[in-house]
Amino acid sequence: MGIVNNLFNMEGRVALVTGASSWGIGSVSAKYLADAGAKVFLVARREEKLKERVAEIEEAGGTATYFACDVASEESCKAAVDACLAKFGQLDVMVLSHGISGLPARTLEDDFDSENYRNLLGINLDGCFWMMKHGHEACAESGHGSIVVVSSLGAYTGDGSASYTAAKGALRSLMTHFGKRLAAENVRINGVYPGFVDTDMTHMGFSMPEVVARFTPKIPLQRFGQPEDIAAGVLYLACDASAWVTGQHLIIDGGQACYM
Ligand code: NAP
Repeated sequence: MGIVNNLFNMEGRVALVTGASSWGIGSVSAKYLADAGAKVFLVARREEKLKERVAEIEEAGGTATYFACDVASEESCKAAVDACLAKFGQLDVMVLSHGISGLPARTLEDDFDSENYRNLLGINLDGCFWMMKHGHEACAESGHGSIVVVSSLGAYTGDGSASYTAAKGALRSLMTHFGKRLAAENVRINGVYPGFVDTDMTHMGFSMPEVVARFTPKIPLQRFGQPEDIAAGVLYLACDASAWVTGQHLIIDGGQACYM
């Protein structure tokens, strides 16, 4: 028990988590990291929601604070990293779990909508790039640097809109690239690739019986995922249990990829 506890122990570490304002993968990952002992720095745009998530973590005995940031802006991402360092004096882990789904791409016009394309890539792809750019040096200094990027099974399947799958697929290549490049700096970088997960992003659709009936047969484990299913993978990749893992892609999808 002692050895396992040590591998997952995040005491003395600081984790910046984007996309942490909603009921979703980011906020539950932040809760898991805080429960493992990390101080967590929550990032998203909606300040009121961030305050609620901070209060929940503090109520459970954890240490958390927040910073309102639009990840589509490089300056805003740099400001978030600077604020984290000013608050906690270090940055060991970054979990990049922000994202939007954009237009649903019901039509080809939606798929080719230029504004949707720019907006979606600006948030889902550029936002991760800016956070990595401005956060990796601090992660390197920590000696335990780990960056976990939340991509999507859509990176493999091409499902979702053209813009969504393009952004998620590009993240996959970035992680392979930086897995090699940042290893020499002692920073690991890995991705999680969720399948269908019930969160604020998807809840409206995933609570409709016809949607459940259509999609669950595609999932061998016969249910939609919960944010907790993904947060467990995020925690593993953030902590020392995965000390010899970098540039890798962890699909968490109830087995859906078995049908690919
Ligand atoms: P969610 O609950 O809607 O979370 C998205 C988060 O991103 C929110 O906290 C939102 O906060 C933040 N965000 C959006 N735009 C932002 C911006 N411009 N700047 C800063 N923060 C921004 O959805 P989720 O399902 O947990 O999604 C988390 C990640 O998982 C996303 O990358 C998503 O693509 C990926 N994913 C989800 C599923 C799924 O089925 N749910 C499947 C595959 C992959 P604010 O609005 O307050 O900024």
